[in-house]
Order: sequence, then C-alpha cells, then structure tokens
Amino acid sequence: MRVSNEQDMILLGEKLGGLLQGGMCILLEGDLGAGKTTMTKGIGKGLGVTRVINSPTFTILKTYHGRLTLNHFDAYRLEDSDDDLGFEDIFAEDDAVSVIEWPRYIEDILPKESLLVTIHKDGDGREVTFTPTGTLYEALVKEMEQC
Ligand code: ADP
Ligand code: MG
Repeated sequence: MRVSNEQDMILLGEKLGGLLQGGMCILLEGDLGAGKTTMTKGIGKGLGVTRVINSPTFTILKTYHGRLTLNHFDAYRLEDSDDDLGFEDIFAEDDAVSVIEWPRYIEDILPKESLLVTIHKDGDGREVTFTPTGTLYEALVKEMEQC
C-alpha cells in the first residue's frame, strides 16, 4: 500500500500496534531513511507507550512500557557478528512484542513466525508491504485490512 507521508506512516504503525498480542514479532525491512523508526513510533503509540521512541542504532535494543512491553531492536551494527546476544529469550517473552530494524543481519536467530513489513521509497512517499508467516500473523494482516 502507498503511505504518502510521515504522519500516515505513524497512523499505520498505530493501527498495527493496537492489534498486536504478547509474543509477536515485527520485522522492518527497508533502506536507511525508509521509515522503519517512524513506523515503530506508531507501533509504540498503538501499544500505549508514552515515552518518545527514537532510533536505537547505538544501543541495539531499547525497551518501552505500554499495554505490552515494546522491545525495539536495530540490528544494523550486528552485521556479520556471531555473538550470542540472548535475543531469542527476549523474542519469546509473552508480555512483550519485538520490533526489529535490519532483521537480515540476525536472520539465524529470528523467530519462525513473524510479520515482515517491507518499506520502499516511492517518490516523496513510501510503498509498504505486509508479508505474514504463520496463521496468527495471517489473521493479523486480515484484521489490518478490515479496520
Ligand atoms: P529508518 O528508520 O528506516 O532509517 P526513519 O523512520 O528514521 O527511517 O525515517 C526517515 C525519514 O523518512 C524521516 O524524515 C521521516 O519523516 C520520513 N518518512 C517516514 N515515513 C514516510 C512516508 N510514509 N512518506 C514520506 N516520508 C516518510
Ligand atoms: Mg531507523
């Protein structure tokens, strides 16, 4: 779908955030400046996070508290790293959701099921695609389409 501006990106994320259940994992794929962190701001809003969400690039993981805990990962600096960072345990927390920027850099440890959100620059706006893996995420995308 086409998302024309930053405000609409936040609204789309907010809609998604409002539908998330504990234990869910959202993968955000897109180049630098695509709008991954912007979408995360919206997801946080939808989860009832009141703190300002910004890029976690220099910390890899930032945690926020709302209706559910939001674990916001940025794996950009983990390219080619073989360290065991214990992320699997965090992904498995059932009262939290994981939102991961640059998931391709931690491909080996990602959960089997997730919602992949792909963001491409498209003129001044963005093209956003949802690719669910697993029945829970297929249902989530259907819900997104209905509201
Ligand atoms: P990323 O985390 O992917 O590097 P950011 O979320 O930091 O990207 O966004 C980079 C820029 O793109 C910001 O200036 C933001 O305002 C803008 N932006 C985000 N979403 C959209 C959109 N749908 N249309 C136009 N600009 C957008
Ligand atoms: Mg970012």
